[in-house]
Amino acid sequence: MSAYSSLAPHPAEVHPRVIGWFEEQARDLPWRRPECTSWGVMVSEVMLQQTPVGRVLPRWEEWMRRWPTPTATAAAPASEILTVWDRLGYPRRALRLQAAAQAMVDQHDGEVPGTADELRALPGVGEYTAAAVASFAFGQPEVVVDTNIRRVHARVFSGAALPGKTYTAAQRKLAHELMPETAHDQGREACAWNASAMELGALICTAKSPQCAICPVADLCAWVAAGSPPPTEAQQTKGQAWAGTDRQVRGAIMAELRKGEPVQRGTLLEGLPLPEASEEQRIRCLDSLLRDDLAEEHDGRVALPGVL
Ligand code: SF4
Repeated sequence: MSAYSSLAPHPAEVHPRVIGWFEEQARDLPWRRPECTSWGVMVSEVMLQQTPVGRVLPRWEEWMRRWPTPTATAAAPASEILTVWDRLGYPRRALRLQAAAQAMVDQHDGEVPGTADELRALPGVGEYTAAAVASFAFGQPEVVVDTNIRRVHARVFSGAALPGKTYTAAQRKLAHELMPETAHDQGREACAWNASAMELGALICTAKSPQCAICPVADLCAWVAAGSPPPTEAQQTKGQAWAGTDRQVRGAIMAELRKGEPVQRGTLLEGLPLPEASEEQRIRCLDSLLRDDLAEEHDGRVALPGVL
């Protein structure tokens, strides 16, 4: 099924509007500045997955101050890596980033490789991160698709309120078709389109309250032309619950371990500030952290990896 609405504009009309808006309105983020290294871009892309910019900024700055290169990151103790990661969530990302840095040291002379294929071959680097780093750090015209870009595509070209949970084959095809031609400018416009569509989704075309009144493509947007219909049931995604989840309990355990000192298993589990979490849930979460190599246990004491 085509992802194009009959009301969809021609992509060539949309590109210059969104790119022009980005040039004037984009946030000044350190990983977008010309002096930022490819490693800085990669760290930002991993941190920004499922985590808002405001929480990432101080962690990114601290990370880059301590470990400005893949080589420095590869040599860092895992306990420090997890401490600097702090409360960004999904801390396995931090260990995967370090594993990727180690592979760069082993296979790429400590440099971030410059193509999406090489990036994807690194441990823990998926399709999105590889494409984003190749595009934003190396100017490669890869097709970058995150949730913000998917939403912009869905509204402007498919006339849908939301793109739905799954990245479908039709959406993938649409994303490829929407990329600007690359022959005339070595992909500069294509890379700018990636960054601009992402920023438009983050700032203007947000999931809950799109600001169509100040949007640079309001008069072209298929969703607006269709009368801004509400999302269908299939397009809606449930917000992720936090309170009471294993993620919350794992986060509380990690917060205790980041204090640095080894702690007795019983003291750790009983001392969590989560009265509603059952003993069984606490044990399950600690055991899962041990399995994920985010913590280690010896003689009944638990700590971040490498501390005991
Ligand atoms: S007009 Fe509204 S829905 Fe369309 S792209 Fe802009 S903000 Fe999004």
